[in-house]
Amino acid sequence: MIEISSELASQHISRYAIADLLCYLNRTKWEQKYNRYQLKIELWAVGIWVREAGIISYQGLACFIRETTLLKASHLQVEQRSPNLFLVQGVQKSKYAVVRQHNCFCCECMLYRCRHNRLKKELPQLFEALNRKIFCHHTVAAYLSLKTQ
Ligand SMILES: [Zn+2]
Repeated sequence: MIEISSELASQHISRYAIADLLCYLNRTKWEQKYNRYQLKIELWAVGIWVREAGIISYQGLACFIRETTLLKASHLQVEQRSPNLFLVQGVQKSKYAVVRQHNCFCCECMLYRCRHNRLKKELPQLFEALNRKIFCHHTVAAYLSLKTQ
């Protein structure tokens, strides 16, 4: 079993996130017997083991993360302040600064910093499944704003 930090776990494999992921994958049979608060989740090298619903691949989680990120990003307002500085609409904070460096976008939000500091080291399986790309909905929104200019 793989142990990861509570920071990374709460952002990616909370019971809420896993219940949403199972729903996204059309795996909802467990809901007849259990609710999301009862899910028992363990990380294995080959995938995410959910006692009530079976194993989920890291690829499955990566697809879910990509799609939900894109969906969230497409609703955000982006203000480009300079060629490499973007202010992106946020929730916990009204605006997040996204900086572009060598075609790589970095954000100051907790989610981005958590992925940047922890994902590769703590859960390389998911990092690989995300094609070794670190992003958040703010960096994706900044990237999309350039595409639509
Ligand atoms: Zn962000």
